[in-house]
Amino acid sequence: MSERRSPLAISDAEMERLARERVADHFHDECGVFGIHGHDEASHICYLGLYALQHRGQESCGMVASNGREHIAHRAMGLVADTFGEKTLGRLRGRHAIGHVRYSTAGESLLRNAQPICANTDGGPVSIAHNGNLVNAVAIRRELEGRGAIFGSTSDSEVLLHLLARSREEHVEDRFIDAVSRVKGAFSIVLLTDDALIGARDPSGFRPLSLGRLGRAYVLASETCALDLIGASYERDVEPGEMVVIRRGRLRSLRPFTREVPKHFCIFEYIYFARPDSNLVGHNVYAFRKELGRTLAREHPVAADMVVPVLDSGNAAALGYAEQEGIPYETALIRNHYVRRTFIEPAQSIRNFGVKVKHNAIKSFLDGRRVVLVDDSIVRGTTLVKIVGMLRVAGAREVHVRISSPPTIGRCHYGIDTPTREELIAHDHSVDEIREIIGADSLGFLSLEGLRRTAASEVKIGICDGCFSDNYPIPVDSETETPQLSLFRAMEEEPDPE
Ligand code: AMP
Repeated sequence: MSERRSPLAISDAEMERLARERVADHFHDECGVFGIHGHDEASHICYLGLYALQHRGQESCGMVASNGREHIAHRAMGLVADTFGEKTLGRLRGRHAIGHVRYSTAGESLLRNAQPICANTDGGPVSIAHNGNLVNAVAIRRELEGRGAIFGSTSDSEVLLHLLARSREEHVEDRFIDAVSRVKGAFSIVLLTDDALIGARDPSGFRPLSLGRLGRAYVLASETCALDLIGASYERDVEPGEMVVIRRGRLRSLRPFTREVPKHFCIFEYIYFARPDSNLVGHNVYAFRKELGRTLAREHPVAADMVVPVLDSGNAAALGYAEQEGIPYETALIRNHYVRRTFIEPAQSIRNFGVKVKHNAIKSFLDGRRVVLVDDSIVRGTTLVKIVGMLRVAGAREVHVRISSPPTIGRCHYGIDTPTREELIAHDHSVDEIREIIGADSLGFLSLEGLRRTAASEVKIGICDGCFSDNYPIPVDSETETPQLSLFRAMEEEPDPE
């Protein structure tokens, strides 16, 4: 066997450096949106909805409520539960509300980029919460700036509000149609006016958006897990290219995009991003991940004593793999769920503290055993370098890594945060080189064909797999990668929690 690099070769300092290198002014973020129309406790319900969508973004969150005349907004850095207390929710008065959770790369994790974004237009207040990335936002922004527009954030979503405010149409829904007709890329949007809640999805349908009912109220949410929490019924998905306008207890469905385009639902929502208890396009995420695990086992079987998931991202695929192969499933790797991004490190006395603070291996289960370690994806490879090393230190005799998606070779341009192409380990390393780097005895990725076949038989909708295939359905404005936005940087303090 060729010489193996030390399984713990990447130091915590190196990890920090890699993380810092990701800091760049680019429009890349992951988000969740929620909206409710016609409920006496709109802000409280919206809070619960955002709470259920927290996995879609942990850096900032916000909510806007409408009392039929004016909008009241609250945005903050941090988690939903730390941001909204009884006092704040009490101030967010009104029967309609929208909310947003956001994660962005560190350079842009600023309060001014938190959503919803609000504006007073000549047609009244308008607030918008957006999930997805617009690939021509930089060009539109430059054009608008050239005509005197002043932007308050570096978020791509703000261009929508500017376009809407400048539209010459009379009614707000027509103004919104004007705006979304100009942008390209991915959007699932909830928009609040003084009296209406509007939901819209781009014609390709990259990002999810579900419609539910809570009594007589209408609810829009990125994922159905939010409907479950508030006890709302799932009615249907907002269709790709559809716009729903909810006003005075009635819903109107519009089809503002004249051109039919192929559907491209993001397959990574199924693989990693969405919560397993959500249904996307009517299909359960957990069931899909298990099916990926089964396909993976058929493609890359191996003799082993146990299948161990990387918690929590590898759980369902590992279970599918174990069932398919008839190998016991063991959570022999335990995860601390309370780890935050930063923690106070002790002096050098504890080796590999960074790994151990998040995961710990159960030695008595692993000693002398042959392990299949399953995760959903490899991005930079740093997680697996550490975990494979930890399993070996715990005594595992063999570690066979199985990944329930193909090698990630390109970044996502439509709303999943991925590092630059150069940072993706699969971009310039073969499968065997990656195996060497992570220190595994064998490594198997789900094939692109296997993924496509599983998707075709399970969800029956066109998918986007650009990050695995390098086949991007909507061409990307090259400036989106490095927009070089001219910014002024101000100190923005996080408000004290209540
Ligand atoms: P890495 O250590 O860089 O290879 O990252 C792989 C790990 O990150 C896996 O456990 C994935 O579940 C997880 N992951 C994959 N994509 C993302 C993403 N967009 N944001 C956060 N975590 C991710």
